[in-house]
Amino acid sequence: MGAENANREEKIYDVAIIGAGPAGLTAAMYSARAGLDAALLENLSPGGQLAQTEHLENYPGFTLSQSGYELSEIMHEQAEHFGAHTVYDEVTDVELEGPVKRLKLPSGHIDARSVIVASGARPAKLGIEREAKLTGSGVSYCATCDGNFFKGKDVCIVGGGDTAAADAIYLSRICTKIYMFVRRDVLRATAIYYDRLKKLPNVEIVWNSVVEEILEEDGAVAGVRVRDRVSGQTRTYEVAALFVAIGTVPNSEFLDGKVELDQSGYVVADETGRTSAAGVFAAGDVRTKVLRQVSTAVADGANCAEACAEYLLQQQS
Ligand SMILES: Cc1cc2nc3c(=O)[nH]c(=O)nc-3n(C[C@H](O)[C@H](O)[C@H](O)COP(=O)(O)OP(=O)(O)OC[C@H]3O[C@@H](n4cnc5c(N)ncnc54)[C@H](O)[C@@H]3O)c2cc1C
Repeated sequence: MGAENANREEKIYDVAIIGAGPAGLTAAMYSARAGLDAALLENLSPGGQLAQTEHLENYPGFTLSQSGYELSEIMHEQAEHFGAHTVYDEVTDVELEGPVKRLKLPSGHIDARSVIVASGARPAKLGIEREAKLTGSGVSYCATCDGNFFKGKDVCIVGGGDTAAADAIYLSRICTKIYMFVRRDVLRATAIYYDRLKKLPNVEIVWNSVVEEILEEDGAVAGVRVRDRVSGQTRTYEVAALFVAIGTVPNSEFLDGKVELDQSGYVVADETGRTSAAGVFAAGDVRTKVLRQVSTAVADGANCAEACAEYLLQQQS
């Protein structure tokens, strides 16, 4: 074990924050600024889903020329500036009973008097054959990350929400033709997106459609077979990529049985972030809430840090 790990394992942090997306970064900044000794755990790189957002149009005060990635970097710098300590590792298990909580990591553990869970969410999968095999070879869950690999080609998107619509708009500037397969006969996406989609000559919305099979050639996506839910007929589309944008699932598996989760796996928590376990708070996309956005994740992070500081004060008295 390295010297840094050994030192880390001897100490008890005031608060350990799981996940450095916008919720975790804000919680870290508020906690550190309030004088708490804060560890911020991240298994990939700071920013979470925010870092994948090319144009953040709806975050107040943030201009269109900046990307979500840039905002992530600024938020991380700000949290560290106030004293939050980033640990790059994955939380694989947790012990949440008692006054000192333990987060288990492949490199050891972190002990803390309180925990803020801000582990966010990841894209939902279609669950069809070859989806896993061809991920990275034409199947993608992030148009802004992978769209450029399919410049000048025909591609398709599955989904009818805001993310799918934003992906279609983004891809329309790069790809030749974009088929958008929507399960129902309406979009869940907000009207502003629909208005923009309608004006794009190279985007075709295919209503009442379900992708049943991914076709493969030379180890990459060559097309999709799609069923019309109304007529029952199937049709093959030759596309070089399939972008899946059908929603998200929470990163909460390591909490199963440790805090209350709802049926879909989201951590049950109120506006202050309090969960069913004392001293454990949840912020951002991982918690039960109506609107999962950067602005609401940031608000959660601030509320959680405040509730956490109050909890620690009560523990001392
Ligand atoms: C393509 C795309 C476009 C979007 N566009 C917009 C938009 O325009 N406007 C908007 O407001 N919102 C947008 N969103 C949604 C927004 O990004 C999310 O609501 C927001 O990032 C949620 O923040 P979070 O901190 O709760 O979680 P996340 O951003 O998901 O961050 C969670 C972090 O936790 C880490 N983590 C997870 N599990 C562990 C573990 N066990 N151990 C350690 N670390 C862990 C992850 O690696 C990740 O970095 C978009 C999302 C996507 C995917």
